[in-house]
Amino acid sequence: MTKELDSFLDELIQDVQKIDPVNSRKWFENLEIIKFDGGLLEIGCPDEGKAHFLKDNCSAAFMQVAQKKTGYLVSVNFTSSNGSPAAPIAQKSRWAVKLHPDYTFDSFVVGPGNRLAHASCVAVSHSPGDTYNPLFVYGPVGLGKTHLLHGICWEAKNLNTNVNIQFLTCEQFMNRFIRAIEEGNLPEFQNQLRSVDILVIDDIQFLREREQSQEEFFHTFNALYDNRKQIVLSADCAPNEIGSLEERLVSRFKWGLVTSVDAPSYETRVAIVQKKAHLRGCEISDEVAAYIAQSAKANIRELEGALTIVYATAKTTGQPINLTLAKQALGGNIVSSERDLSITDIIEATTKYFNVRRADLQSKKRSQSIALPRQICMYLARNMTRHSLEEIGGHLGGRDHTTVMHACSKITELKDKNEKIKNQLSEISSSVKNMSM
Ligand code: ADP
Ligand code: MG
Repeated sequence: MTKELDSFLDELIQDVQKIDPVNSRKWFENLEIIKFDGGLLEIGCPDEGKAHFLKDNCSAAFMQVAQKKTGYLVSVNFTSSNGSPAAPIAQKSRWAVKLHPDYTFDSFVVGPGNRLAHASCVAVSHSPGDTYNPLFVYGPVGLGKTHLLHGICWEAKNLNTNVNIQFLTCEQFMNRFIRAIEEGNLPEFQNQLRSVDILVIDDIQFLREREQSQEEFFHTFNALYDNRKQIVLSADCAPNEIGSLEERLVSRFKWGLVTSVDAPSYETRVAIVQKKAHLRGCEISDEVAAYIAQSAKANIRELEGALTIVYATAKTTGQPINLTLAKQALGGNIVSSERDLSITDIIEATTKYFNVRRADLQSKKRSQSIALPRQICMYLARNMTRHSLEEIGGHLGGRDHTTVMHACSKITELKDKNEKIKNQLSEISSSVKNMSM
């Protein structure tokens, strides 16, 4: 690469980071311009994983910046430096395994809340199938479950490049299963899954109430388990709390190790902020890290959100990142948690208030003592979070969007007529707000 191209790429990357400050610098390391002609900018990446990731996540930003810089219409392509296009990443399987480049064990901060979960994941990645099988990691949203699961895959791949890994979200598993049925190639689907060394399924709680998917997963599980292949699962609650899940699955989920991730301590939060800042190529002072760690307590996604705001403010105003800037960026106050209230908190507050179990809310029970809290939950989730009707239904026992819609209109109507309901709603919503402070 010539000197001019070299510095053109540097400038390009700087500008891309300005429009999308979340991108960490690691993704942009060791890139090179392979060619730039005829309106096509081809950027070489050190490996296919990176090329694939950049293509999916940064193409638009690169195009926008390249066009602005050159004044021409430019399309951008990422290839791995050995020249192969970024598309198919998994050589062994029909399904590309997309791993997040930042979600490695290296970038994971270990603290009291996640020590055991982390150690178990490391153990599993070192000898898949031999230690804890299955490994079941659970905990509330935003505490690093997905990160750990990706970490297992990265580490296992590092140790053995031939290892055959399949990483799927539960939704991907169900969608592919349905598609396989529709297209009449169920055996191929089954072979794909049953021939892996490590099967990772993220957010397995979404299997609840999906009887046919549960059945299919049961057989996949057995086939892998019998062949001593590793199974790793995550969920937002413990196996027996998932609700509407076949007992035989619940019991299998407990065969290996069930481990939880809990909310991070203050010290862990500070360390995470430091680590995330470092990954994005900026070092921040202890003072600033402490301020951010104090401002976002509920989960780590919120913490990252706060860091992003600070970082973006510094980039757009051209100021250095210091305490004054951090305070100014975060409004001198706690990060608005209004936006980041989680359904999990709402469910927890509601179940506490009505003294019912989470599993009941997610069950098919229709007695008034369960149905009302469930509908209140749906109403609050609709009004306090930005989740879609489908997602809300998913959290409450896999109900469909019309059920959620119905619940919302019913509670809206009730609250205007019924003082008691109105008070209940306001009490529960204020306890939800307190939880996420
Ligand atoms: P979950 O799957 O539990 O909802 P994620 O794995 O998606 O949570 O984590 C949310 C964000 O927080 C991710 O960006 C992840 O990298 C980060 N994160 C969570 N825990 C840690 C940790 N211990 N160290 C570093 N980053 C973390
Ligand atoms: Mg997750």
